[in-house]
Amino acid sequence: MKFFSTNKKSSPVNFKEACINGQAPDKGLYFPEYIPQLPASFFEAIESMSNEDIAFEAIKNYIGDCIPAPILKNIVEETINFSIPLIPITDSVFSLELFHGPTLAFKDVGARFMSRCLGYFVKDFSKKVTVLVATSGDTGGAVAHGFYDVPNVEVVILYPSGKVSTVQEKQLTTLGKNIHAIEVQGNFDDCQQMVKEIFLSASEFENLFLTSANSINVARWLPQQFYYFLAYKQWKDKDTAPVIAVPSGNFGNICAGLLAKASGLPVQYFIAACNANDVVPQFLQTGNYLPKPAVATISNAMDVGNPSNFVRIMEIFHHQIPDLQQVFSAVSVSDARTKETIKNVYQHHQYLLDPHGAVGFTALSDYLNMHPDSKGIVVETAHPVKFFDVVEPVIGEAIKIPETIQSQLGQQKNATLMNAYVNALKNFLHQL
Ligand SMILES: *Cc1c(COP(=O)(O)O)cnc(C)c1O
Repeated sequence: MKFFSTNKKSSPVNFKEACINGQAPDKGLYFPEYIPQLPASFFEAIESMSNEDIAFEAIKNYIGDCIPAPILKNIVEETINFSIPLIPITDSVFSLELFHGPTLAFKDVGARFMSRCLGYFVKDFSKKVTVLVATSGDTGGAVAHGFYDVPNVEVVILYPSGKVSTVQEKQLTTLGKNIHAIEVQGNFDDCQQMVKEIFLSASEFENLFLTSANSINVARWLPQQFYYFLAYKQWKDKDTAPVIAVPSGNFGNICAGLLAKASGLPVQYFIAACNANDVVPQFLQTGNYLPKPAVATISNAMDVGNPSNFVRIMEIFHHQIPDLQQVFSAVSVSDARTKETIKNVYQHHQYLLDPHGAVGFTALSDYLNMHPDSKGIVVETAHPVKFFDVVEPVIGEAIKIPETIQSQLGQQKNATLMNAYVNALKNFLHQL
């Protein structure tokens, strides 16, 4: 399997090169040359298969011979060695809980898979590998924990000062060792821009091998398909395919779901649930794709003004917007409605959503009101405790903080404060 660049100016590469490069040299995103099809027999047998076998079957064609099967099996096993349950909230809405990993958000899956693949590929590198990543909140912690203590790899994480939650900040600033946190005085787009500019001037860093761990990396993007297959394994009503609402920011997660569907997974419809950052919902309405500066919301991990992965969605649909609109829509949900949803769902169904899941639940409920014969899944992307600062005042109750988070909160923050100038970051990297 080869991956081509969405800008079509770089040569196609295999999974190993795509994982190491992160972004293609022409600044496009890597995309598989074809989408492997899973046979009907796979979906018929899915309920009796182990999670590891399902994930292995879903990913193996993308990896090809870049990783020997027994090692890939191991990586897959370690990637999903926590529960990914599908929990009923109402008669027609189920929550796919992706927050049982070490940093309590879905990004653990992609970060764990990528760190293990990269660790395998760089074993015999002579240069130190530096993973550079910008985070709107949850990527940082997941990448920090995924790469912590991986030999030969340094990790530099940029996050927007004051725009991530308390728990998120602790998860990425307290590990130390090979994990370096940079607190940028700007927003997520500034962080992402600084990372992009470093890659444009990578030749200035001869002694470093720079790569990214953002969701544009195929090794983070592709394994996100796993849990859509695992959701289907647990979906009882196999005669009616689910509608799936995905809280979306950079659109990597939903794009993985659309890829899984394109390879055969039965899904009726996908809803990208956005907060006030509504570039994609606006695009589908007006036909104009207008990136904007990100605005801060209570679902901060989705505060993205120029979603990187949307181009991959267009690629899946061969840039045919009417085809896309057959199975996909995107909506914007306000903070006020998000809070209302958290409160209502907690009061009426005793289920506590986090702000991101609540954006998804709101969008899904609106859709199901218009399509009463359908049933849906909301992808619950983070544990509500990660956002206790938002959730507690809304429900008027304290939430129980798990032991692991309690101890993270007690640890000392260690971050380098930086203006949103690429030169400041360059100086930092030169001193690594
Ligand atoms: C990152 C994140 C999102 C957005 O995911 P994308 O793949 O960027 O669309 C949604 N919810 C949470 C909790 C996140 O951490």
